[in-house]
Amino acid sequence: MLRFGLFARLLAALAAVMIVAAWIGSLGELSIPSRMVLLLLIAAGVSGLIARSIGRPLDGMRRAAQAQAGGEIEVEWPIPTTREMRELSNAVQTMALNLQDKIRTIENLLAEQRSIFDSMAEGLIVVDPRERILDANRAAQQMLQFDIASVRGRDMLEVVRNARLANLARRALREEAPLIEGSIMLFAGSERQIQVRGSLLRAGGRVKGALLVLSDVTRLRRLESIQTEFVANASHELKTPVTSIKGFAETIASEDMPPDQIKRYCRIIARHADQLGTLIDDLLELARLEHEEGRGPLNLAPTPVTELIEGAVETCAADASRKNIRIERVIPPDLLVQAHALFLQRAIFNLLDNAVKYSPAHSTIRVIVERTDSEVLIHVRDEGPGIAPEHHERIFERFYRVDKSRSRKLGGTGLGLSIAKHLVEAHGGRITLVSAPGQGSTFTIHLPLPPPPPASAEGAPP
Ligand code: ADP
Repeated sequence: MLRFGLFARLLAALAAVMIVAAWIGSLGELSIPSRMVLLLLIAAGVSGLIARSIGRPLDGMRRAAQAQAGGEIEVEWPIPTTREMRELSNAVQTMALNLQDKIRTIENLLAEQRSIFDSMAEGLIVVDPRERILDANRAAQQMLQFDIASVRGRDMLEVVRNARLANLARRALREEAPLIEGSIMLFAGSERQIQVRGSLLRAGGRVKGALLVLSDVTRLRRLESIQTEFVANASHELKTPVTSIKGFAETIASEDMPPDQIKRYCRIIARHADQLGTLIDDLLELARLEHEEGRGPLNLAPTPVTELIEGAVETCAADASRKNIRIERVIPPDLLVQAHALFLQRAIFNLLDNAVKYSPAHSTIRVIVERTDSEVLIHVRDEGPGIAPEHHERIFERFYRVDKSRSRKLGGTGLGLSIAKHLVEAHGGRITLVSAPGQGSTFTIHLPLPPPPPASAEGAPP
């Protein structure tokens, strides 16, 4: 079909009307008013046809543009028959496609930002200049226990019910400083310490509100306080033998005393020096362990349990025989555990050493190993004084002792069990205690079973 431009069509219509007018003028049998009416009717018909040929494609374009704006992907655009309309349709279509492309890019960007926003460990809250909550990420919603969908636009204080946090938001909005800092306490199940940083949010030179960043520093503060406590405890433990050594040495130097008394004092000094040496060894061991832990998981290898236990027994054999203590072993043959041999042997030794230290002379210590469906258990059972239940929870803490003077007299440092616990946990295991006063103590190391050996290719069915 031939397609003409709009201008050509108008010209053709005009020419047609003129020809028709001339023809009507030549119709002598019709009166002038009738000729006028006929001409008007024909002119109206022609204008109607022209208006339709412009209006229809415009209407098609409007519908297509509306469908595209509504998010429809497969939109059919009309192909107008006039050149001008076709060009207009093409231009609008290109514009709509460009716009749709830009909208899609912005939507993707927003989704990306939302997922970054939500995956952050820090809580983020955005408030408007009137302190109403505009947005909050997942971490903030968890920390402050609200659902952003139901509180958006509501006053911050009313939602979070924390005057300090609301005050920090206010100070950030007033821009008292480029960065406002403070800390708040939250009680969601347990007490949490939260550090808050607030800053003003601007966009296009206008203040949009304030951004609050919430970091949970509970663990960090707890570690700091453990460290301070540890330094204080360690200094105290080191100071005790040093004070004694100094005191006895000064007494020997300043007084005339019989040789056997000097000998006695020297023996006391030697005992305190030994204690100091053991304490320093244990502290170094702890430091080494923490350093190893910081380097990632331990290198574990399948190790026979018998080897570990015999090694530990050998190390404390001299002390045991001095007290006439028997160490019995019940170990299933060929049992393997995933272990860092040196570290696990040290943990077993610490338990055995305590058993020897706190057991009466002529008693028996039993080391019993058993394998359950999910674990390998190493029990160290003694016939010593036993430990009252109220101490069970804290006994694995550093420097915790049931009987301080007894432990010191026996050369204890208060670190043996905490080192053993550390070592066993580094193997993915744990230590438990069953004990009561007068009934001896059983410390048990629980270790996960080693993974089954890989099925060998030989003998496998073809
Ligand atoms: P210590 O060097 O003082 O033995 P540990 O950390 O090894 O330090 O043990 C902590 C405390 O637990 C000891 O001081 C002691 O009071 C108690 N304890 C540990 N093992 C036994 C045991 N087998 N029998 C009785 N008490 C024990």
